[in-house]
Amino acid sequence: MKKSILLLLLLFIAPVFAFSQIQENPKPKLIVGIVVDQMRYDYITRYWNKFGENGFRKLVKEGFNCSNTHYNYVPTYTGPGHTSIYTGTTPASHGIISNSWYSRSAGREIYVTEDAEVNSVGTDNASGKMSPVQLLSTTISDEIRVASNFRSKVVGIALKDRSAILPAGRSANAAYWFDALSGNWISSSWYMKTLPDWVVQFNDRKLPAGYMQQPWNTLLPIDQYSESTADDVPYEEPFPGETKPVFPHNFPVISAGKYDLLKSSPYGCNLTREFAVAAMKAEQLGKDEFTDVLAVSFSSPDYVGHQFGTHAIETEDIYLRLDLDIATLISETEKYCGAGNVLFFLTADHAAIPNIRFLSDHKILAGQFNIAQLTDSLNKFLNSTYGTQKWVLAVDNDQVYLNHDLIAQQKINANEVISSVKGFIKKFKGVAEVLTADDLSKGEFTFGIKSFVQKGFYGPRSGDLAFILEPGYIEYKSTGTTHGAAYTYDTHVPLIFRGAGIKKGGYYGHVDITDIAPTISQMLGIQPPNAATGKVIEALFK
Ligand code: ZN
Ligand code: ZN
Ligand code: ZN
Repeated sequence: MKKSILLLLLLFIAPVFAFSQIQENPKPKLIVGIVVDQMRYDYITRYWNKFGENGFRKLVKEGFNCSNTHYNYVPTYTGPGHTSIYTGTTPASHGIISNSWYSRSAGREIYVTEDAEVNSVGTDNASGKMSPVQLLSTTISDEIRVASNFRSKVVGIALKDRSAILPAGRSANAAYWFDALSGNWISSSWYMKTLPDWVVQFNDRKLPAGYMQQPWNTLLPIDQYSESTADDVPYEEPFPGETKPVFPHNFPVISAGKYDLLKSSPYGCNLTREFAVAAMKAEQLGKDEFTDVLAVSFSSPDYVGHQFGTHAIETEDIYLRLDLDIATLISETEKYCGAGNVLFFLTADHAAIPNIRFLSDHKILAGQFNIAQLTDSLNKFLNSTYGTQKWVLAVDNDQVYLNHDLIAQQKINANEVISSVKGFIKKFKGVAEVLTADDLSKGEFTFGIKSFVQKGFYGPRSGDLAFILEPGYIEYKSTGTTHGAAYTYDTHVPLIFRGAGIKKGGYYGHVDITDIAPTISQMLGIQPPNAATGKVIEALFK
């Protein structure tokens, strides 16, 4: 008797429990995903005292800061970075192994979002012939679309095409990127036949031309940039047309009537923010019960970082100015959708290493790895061993693509060639590890740089061997910076959630970049992206 009453009670209570758990977190009407291209985590702490109250500081103070978030694969580049954030998995599953890679079927290097099957929309040139056709798994944006029976809207926006296209996923309503040739925001026939009226009107305002009429000066008096090296140091690269890398950068003169420099300046962030707010209003994002996604990526900090490095006044200045753009983006979004209806998250697609000469000047071990030299010696080695032929099709993304047809035709044992190449590359100064496709297929590496290679390796697109450099070694010119490595200078990025359903707080345990999408799926109560390997960041829910 007692047992059956208990059972009855349980039957009543259980559904109520489950129901209340689902109801507890009201779903955001809009998710604004902000990716800052090349943002190191420590920019938050380094520039903290100079940020205003309504940008980065507002996100950290009112939101949840996962301060120990890292990439978990190589190469740490823009295409794979944006894709991993939104798919919750790594190149091994989403297939975006780099920004470009050698394609055996095409017989050349292909670009990550190139697509000959689609047409440019909004420009006559080929800048719009882009799509997510190479993306193999779903993004959180796709899953949000599926979950709402395609009533949710997804829009991706960035100066760089790949940073707009890949986060938005294959089923997106739209992705827009900047065409530096025309100075216009454009798209492709993957999404639409013609640009919507609001985009045409936005382009008609000719904002880029106006920006290029203004020199780039520091926001604060230049002597206050105490977090940076001097303005004129040999670690920086001047803009084309400049003799020194110093302020003011005279855009009215050096831009020469073109828009390329807009990308490498704070004006690129201004323009992106203005276009994102215009998109939100025109597309009425966040206005109904179906959660929409506005995936915004700020590309300009990456261009500025590459040119001037991680410790330049230019870099400090673009972050102080980006802080103001983020403040405006938050306030405009909340004014339009209502505070409490918007979930913001901010992260980066990779970080960056300080300039290698700057490091060397301070006795920190760093060096330049000459990939052309490696390729040249490898060719000589194979020619002397097997006869003069084209044995290597490409060395791309620290991977070697051997000529399979030639090896078969010459009746040479492929495994023997591969293992001799492995031994040869391993002897190079600066090389930490060499792994063959066979090494990677035998079992799973759970930690360390071998696991980074494995998670970044997708057989049908990757090479026969992959090598990884020692810490501090880069393949680049000696000015500015680059990224791509498995080390913390490239992997450690910000991750902050703020807004609808997010409590104040922080977590300093290790978070993988692939944890973001599964966590958002959990907040929304929907399927994670189909190949997600990340875990839910439980600290956010405790
Ligand atoms: Zn990037
Ligand atoms: Zn400078
Ligand atoms: Zn970059």
